[in-house]
Amino acid sequence: MRILVVEDDRTLGKAMSASLELAGFAVDWVCRVADARHLMGGEHFDALVLDLGLPDGDGYDLVRTLRHKGEALPVLILTARDAVEDRVQGLDLGADDYIVKPVAMAELQARVRALIRRSAGTGSASFSIGALTLDTAGRRAFLDGRPLDLSGREWGVLEYLATHVHRIVSKEQLIQALTSLGQDLSENAIEAYVHRVRGKIEGSGTVIRTVRGLGYMLEQADEAAP
Ligand code: CA
Repeated sequence: MRILVVEDDRTLGKAMSASLELAGFAVDWVCRVADARHLMGGEHFDALVLDLGLPDGDGYDLVRTLRHKGEALPVLILTARDAVEDRVQGLDLGADDYIVKPVAMAELQARVRALIRRSAGTGSASFSIGALTLDTAGRRAFLDGRPLDLSGREWGVLEYLATHVHRIVSKEQLIQALTSLGQDLSENAIEAYVHRVRGKIEGSGTVIRTVRGLGYMLEQADEAAP
């Protein structure tokens, strides 16, 4: 899962990026509204962590633009402790949640995970698809209760597909979800990860189907096309 952090306080921006990376997210961090707009134009993100007071404008403008375009990207705004008005305005404009500064990093990680879950329609940090269980907080997967041995990238592929269960996910979507700017990941590498994950979940009744020309879809084997 990939997060865009927009925060002009360099110490905080750096700390939040490091903390989210530690939690397994791919992170891009920018300091200005213009840079955020530019990135969002060409890249896909799974959530936005947004400061309100930025050097070239207002975080609210980004939320407004997103919602105006009908984009459901989850937005977590950063506000000062006493800024009730900011929070109200942010939420009214279409932000999904807020976090109060000073930011507690464990809370930031948990709130971002919760936002992504909610937008995917999964209520809990842990969810099952057939015999396969994913613990998104612990970044672990289980098959019939037995932990699967997955690399970080393999986990990332499985988590993304499971969070988009029964939906087609393209290789480009997987690349976007797993890498920040400047990180290289080829379609061949994605194919290799999918191949390995497939092997590891074999027998679970849940399969990763290749949808020719479009990508992959995680589904229950008995629902798979013949
Ligand atoms: Ca600021």
